[in-house]
Amino acid sequence: MPIYQAEKITKQELKSTELGKTLLEKVTPKKELNKLAQFYIENYLTVTGNERFKTCGNYFEFLTNRELSVRKVHKSNSCGNRFCPLCTWNTAKKDAIKISVLLQAVREEKEQEFIMLTLTAPNCSPVNLKDEIDKFNKAFKKLFDRRNVKKVVNGYMRKLEITTDQEPKITKELYKKKQAYFKKRGLGENDSNPQYNTYNPHFHVILAVNKSYFNDTKIYISRDEWLEMWQECMDDERITQVDVRKVRSSEKSENGAVLEIAKYSAKGNEIYHSKAVFDVFYRALKGRQLLTYNGIFKEYLAKFKKGELDKYKKKDENEYTHLLQSFWKTSKYENVLRQLSKEELEEYNQRAKFIEESNEI
Ligand SMILES: [Zn+2]
Repeated sequence: MPIYQAEKITKQELKSTELGKTLLEKVTPKKELNKLAQFYIENYLTVTGNERFKTCGNYFEFLTNRELSVRKVHKSNSCGNRFCPLCTWNTAKKDAIKISVLLQAVREEKEQEFIMLTLTAPNCSPVNLKDEIDKFNKAFKKLFDRRNVKKVVNGYMRKLEITTDQEPKITKELYKKKQAYFKKRGLGENDSNPQYNTYNPHFHVILAVNKSYFNDTKIYISRDEWLEMWQECMDDERITQVDVRKVRSSEKSENGAVLEIAKYSAKGNEIYHSKAVFDVFYRALKGRQLLTYNGIFKEYLAKFKKGELDKYKKKDENEYTHLLQSFWKTSKYENVLRQLSKEELEEYNQRAKFIEESNEI
């Protein structure tokens, strides 16, 4: 077996390449965030747990080519903690492919159409967040046990997301974003923000319905009816924000829905805002199921896991000829590139025949 010389790759060489961009713009900021999160999570983990969290992402192997124009994670040391920025990113990228495959398979084999439903409620205080999520779960169950809903929904995928507002004063950007809300209350830029330190849990849901649903006025549920039912189930008439839309079969529409369900339950700039904010998120999310599959989607998830839906996965057409090893050294990755041996080339390319991670996240 020939021995291939490994060569160091400089930041300058990396900069203009696809793999380099992934490393510098995606992996490195997440590793930096992991370093910050270490201090926040320290008290909650055992000595071993902390060690795993700290060393997460210290080592990556990417399959690539000489030009570094293609990339695929081959190996990495990951901690698997749901509060780790690197691991939540990894999960979201995989979930995006999984959800997209499930939609295609269910659409084709079960002739289903999809609806994107977003269920929200007014913001709550940090101390009430945990109870509020429990309330959401109960209300959701009530809603989907209703006869008219049960009759049309053949399954759902549901994601819990929590956002928080950590601006003490109304900034220019914040005013722009929620202009209607502030105007109604006679508030302007630089005023105290009434939503400061409040939290907003909400559900993003994809529903599967029969094709005939949209043309059958007897069973069709309008946006106003969804809103009214959600108000009743939550026992809260203040709720005004319910969004319902059909997921069209265009790639753009479907992709948008996939990303809503696959993306993080908490945004990185929010959950790691401060130790106090992290504690609120941690207590609210710990041990909770964040992504739920039901009915037809649960059935197809089992097929997905058994590899029965591989035909819906996109083929990875890239040829991987090289291996880039990235080692985390205090504040940046040091990278070494080498050619794959003949045996590795065959084995790794065979293993990499499908696209398993979305590059859009
Ligand atoms: Zn991790």
